[in-house]
Amino acid sequence: MLWPGPENYRFCPLCGGRLENRLLKAGEPERLVCTACGFVFYIDPKLAVLALVPYKGGLVMARRAIEPGYGLWVAPGGFVDVGELVEDAVVRETLEEVNLRVRVIDNGFGIPEKYIDKIFERFFRVKDEKTRYITGTGLGLPIVKGLVDSLGGIIEVTSAVGEGSTFTVLLPLQPG
Ligand SMILES: [Zn+2]
Repeated sequence: MLWPGPENYRFCPLCGGRLENRLLKAGEPERLVCTACGFVFYIDPKLAVLALVPYKGGLVMARRAIEPGYGLWVAPGGFVDVGELVEDAVVRETLEEVNLRVRVIDNGFGIPEKYIDKIFERFFRVKDEKTRYITGTGLGLPIVKGLVDSLGGIIEVTSAVGEGSTFTVLLPLQPG
């Protein structure tokens, strides 16, 4: 079954009045507006989460049992519910899909601001007194960046030394 897209919505969810397409602001797409109460039905893109769970040198993957993408391997993830925290959504989806209870924690050292632009370069590693004994290749983030780039997305990072880092990945619904 094809899910009925927003273009098929006909009635206002508030008052039941008829919706019609109106150009509210030049440069933006037309919006569905209620002809009775004026409610603007913004069709917001859904926020989704993806868990990259390290396991035995690889990542935990799940095989899709439903369309779209039936049979394809994906990292556990899914849509964030209304009002749900992103961190809670990724924990819930990972439990639902691969039966693993994960935690989203960054108790890392944080990344000094002068290195922020370098962390996506291959083999780059922040080396100081605290991190020198941690082994690693400096390839993890460049691989993630490469994946995000290939999907036409963006990755952002904020970090505070001594507190930790937050990585945000934004992906378009249609690659490219
Ligand atoms: Zn209405």
